[in-house]
Amino acid sequence: MFKLQILNKLRFANVFILLLIVFVSCALLICINFFTIKILSANRAYVNGESHYSKGQKDASRHLITYLYTADQKQWKLYLEELKVPQGDGIARKTMLKAGDNEDARKGFLVGRNHKDDLDDLVWLFENFKEVPFLAKAIHEWEQGDKLIFELFVIGQQINAKIEKNQLTPEIQQKFLQKISDISDKLTINERNFSNTLGEGTRKIKGLLMATNIIFILIIVCSVCLYYTIMVKRLIVSKKEIEVKNENLTLVNHELDRFVYSASHDLRSPITSLKGLIEITQLEDDPNQIKKYLQLMHQSLAKQDQFINDIIDYSKNKRAQVIMEPVSLQELFDEAIAQLMHIENANRIIFTKQLLVDEIQSDSLRLKIIIFNLISNAIKYADSSKQEMFISIKTYLIDGFSSIEVADNGIGINDEYKDNIFEMYFGTNKNKGSGLGLYIVKEAVENIKGNISVSSKSNIGSKFTVTIPHAYGI
Ligand code: ADP
Repeated sequence: MFKLQILNKLRFANVFILLLIVFVSCALLICINFFTIKILSANRAYVNGESHYSKGQKDASRHLITYLYTADQKQWKLYLEELKVPQGDGIARKTMLKAGDNEDARKGFLVGRNHKDDLDDLVWLFENFKEVPFLAKAIHEWEQGDKLIFELFVIGQQINAKIEKNQLTPEIQQKFLQKISDISDKLTINERNFSNTLGEGTRKIKGLLMATNIIFILIIVCSVCLYYTIMVKRLIVSKKEIEVKNENLTLVNHELDRFVYSASHDLRSPITSLKGLIEITQLEDDPNQIKKYLQLMHQSLAKQDQFINDIIDYSKNKRAQVIMEPVSLQELFDEAIAQLMHIENANRIIFTKQLLVDEIQSDSLRLKIIIFNLISNAIKYADSSKQEMFISIKTYLIDGFSSIEVADNGIGINDEYKDNIFEMYFGTNKNKGSGLGLYIVKEAVENIKGNISVSSKSNIGSKFTVTIPHAYGI
């Protein structure tokens, strides 16, 4: 019973753990996917931003070269306009490095022609992942690019100053052109590195995301499969349990039908004989005869009393819970003998006791039922034709079991009845008992996880042996 409870608790714990695993895995999966998508989206925004940066820088260079050769103020303005794009990104980078998320950084990104909906992702990725290798490497390339943009700005100022002072010569123009194209080449390398690094990071994240998704999905699928396997097993077990319970119920119902039928018959028969005896006593004048009738009435009532006691024992044995407690076998035997001395011939019987085991841990109600019935039968079925009638009681320990032995030299049991004596309402002499005694004994023995056996020879005597765990339930 106790072990079953522990097993049930363990099974419940298993299922609970599985559900917890599924729940945690799903939660982690959702979080990982959410953040990965956010990272990938921010990466895309940076790659997008880089293409605006690159286009701005290239257009600025183109307009500056045209300005260098035409001195057209429109080209100068266009140059300044386009240069603002990489400069805006540069401001965003610098202020974020210093102060984290700030208004200037966001404005810088907008000047860098980044979409306003991408601002949050751009800032979030920079703030939280600037130390992560792939982003740190990309930021470094960005920083190098910004330095070159500054150089381009300085060259622009120098060209503008020369144009305003009208100091430009073909050689100077050639020198500036060379510088601008050098910066442009270097920037192209920086911009490519920036994009490649982000691309590499994105691919790695994608791979990681795939792997984690597969792992978590496998965990979830395995847990759900295991959960269903346990549930199906439980269903099968409880179905079997219900089948067994149904079978038991059918048996109990059948037993109850028999019990009600026989009980009503056995309860009526002493009343009928009592009524008859009263009627003939009323007509009798002879005091000796009246005494005889009274004796017979007493026997009828005693029989009914015994039967009612048997029914009470039967009910207690069926309903009462098994309670483990220290029980003294010696006390139970003494009590039984004292209470059963009223049975005919009991005072002629010699009782011998050899109790090697006295106190045991068991259920006192069941032990009392067992001992009372065995002693009562040994007295009832004593052979009064024998000169010496004896009942020998023994208790001893054998292989961790306590054995109780009740032997007599009574009338013994015929071989043909031996297989039936433990059945309900089986009795060879309806005057001596209800036929319930040994049936109740067997059930009581089974309730305390014991065993009962009998060896008997007609006219020689019988020996009933009950073995029960010495400390059952402890
Ligand atoms: P009852 O109430 O009729 O005694 P039990 O179930 O106690 O019913 O016993 C069933 C039958 O087993 C008895 O009718 C009797 O024939 C036989 N029996 C039981 N104990 C003994 C015994 N110690 N000696 C001889 N026969 C016995």
